[in-house]
Amino acid sequence: MDDYLVKATSTDGLFRAYAVNAKQNVATAQKDHHTSAVSSVVLGRVLIATTMLATSVNKNDEAITAKINGKGMTGEIVADSDANGHVKGFMHNPQVPVTNDAGQAMTIGEAVGTDGFVEVTRTSEGEDPYTSSVPLTSGEIGDDFTYYLAQSEQIPSAVGVSVTLDQKGGIETAGGYLIQVLPGAKDEAITKIVNRINALPAISEILKTDELPESILEHIFGKGNLHFLNKMPVEFYCNCSKVKFGRDLEGLPVPQLETMLKEDKGIDVTCNFCQSKYHYNEDELATIIAAAKSRSQKSE
Ligand SMILES: [Zn+2]
Repeated sequence: MDDYLVKATSTDGLFRAYAVNAKQNVATAQKDHHTSAVSSVVLGRVLIATTMLATSVNKNDEAITAKINGKGMTGEIVADSDANGHVKGFMHNPQVPVTNDAGQAMTIGEAVGTDGFVEVTRTSEGEDPYTSSVPLTSGEIGDDFTYYLAQSEQIPSAVGVSVTLDQKGGIETAGGYLIQVLPGAKDEAITKIVNRINALPAISEILKTDELPESILEHIFGKGNLHFLNKMPVEFYCNCSKVKFGRDLEGLPVPQLETMLKEDKGIDVTCNFCQSKYHYNEDELATIIAAAKSRSQKSE
């Protein structure tokens, strides 16, 4: 089944809710980045949380970049999403092992670490990017995004994310939910939902049954207690191109570009997000250098 995200409000008008099935998306990330089991789960959780965050807080033309670095074995994890379900990401170490130094199973919190921050940058056409960050709380990703939303966006929320692997190491289930408390919700209503979240079966178990993100929300709110607003396709999508990277290269110092031309007779660039490779031959590099020169003259 193709991945999609659902948006809903509770019929009492007190909560907004999002849920996503992101199995194909996380499988694409796993294939592109050759991630180990632990790294697949970490990158997948960050992709899922970022997709839901972008959908829940963004204006239409905004994109967000989430960076997480807890100084654990994963190193930095970066995910990028627009409000329309296009998400991409990568991590510094795609090969985190299944066991830690003590020979025990590596937990996700341990792999990510907690000595660092969740940093979220919002970018919008024609506006300066805006970045805010909060300390990591558990490194388990769901808790960390929950804390980010409460602290930085001032939205009391609950975020749950899950990725499980099958016996062959492929992505078995991947999905999550994001619940936001709307103004006017009283403590009693909030406590009820928190209790239901605490009693929730594993997200993977729900998705194994029918793969429907709607089912996750129905488990939390009860059947018939939600208005489903819309469904949105979600995909791992990178908008990189040779032209775009060429423009980035024009921003490099001219002497550095000239060295590349003289010594390497060209340049190879790999996109961090999707691993696409682009080659610029001598002629193309000479054109880039000419553009870089005219650009640096203009800025003088
Ligand atoms: Zn790319």
